[in-house]
Amino acid sequence: MRQEIKIKLLQNMLEEVTKKYDYFILKQEQMLKHTYEMATKDKLTGLYNRQYLEDYSQQALDRMQRHQHVLILIFIDIDNFKYVNDTFGHDEGDAVLKEVSKIFHDSFRKYDVVVRYGGDEFIVLLEEKKYDEATLKALLEKMVQRVEESLLEFKVSASYGCATAPHEAQELQKLISIADERMYAHKRAKKSARDGSNNGR
Ligand code: GH3
Ligand code: MG
Repeated sequence: MRQEIKIKLLQNMLEEVTKKYDYFILKQEQMLKHTYEMATKDKLTGLYNRQYLEDYSQQALDRMQRHQHVLILIFIDIDNFKYVNDTFGHDEGDAVLKEVSKIFHDSFRKYDVVVRYGGDEFIVLLEEKKYDEATLKALLEKMVQRVEESLLEFKVSASYGCATAPHEAQELQKLISIADERMYAHKRAKKSARDGSNNGR
């Protein structure tokens, strides 16, 4: 009988220790996940941050060479964002950034990498078997239309430019600068089309 009590006691103790250990492991995992999120994600929008882009792009460029894929970098900048801050205040500006980020995130596949590069600038990385310009343009135009329609009262839109590796460049900074230049050309073209149509009125 005494032996049975001893065994029961030991079983209870073991159960307690196991429970505590499981809890400790769970907390460790949560802390690790939190630290990883803090290091790789933008706090305001939940999108990936610049640091993640740098790490990920290196792996993506290596993969591209191994599998002979193309890597497409899209640079996006919100149009007229200062107007939102100036007219509605910084908090509303933040809310607009969050909404736009959600639209960007939802416009791509779950394995595409959508990054808040800084301020109102975003970068998307796509790994593809080949570059289909027309399909990509249609997707980006649809995304811009969603931004304009969802945030009509804020009068925001988005301009974009793309660069492809390995054809145009094979390193991140060069791809960014090509895509950035094209984004500005797109923004200028939209502005002058708008100014032209306003002058005609
Ligand atoms: P453009 O159409 O030429 O792109 O001009 P813009 O009005 O969009 O302004 P621009 O891209 O030159 O500047 C972006 C502004 O975004 C400047 C900065 O004050 C604001 N901004 C940057 N980060 C944040 C943020 O986290 N929250 C808010 N509310 N504003 C931000
Ligand atoms: Mg802008």
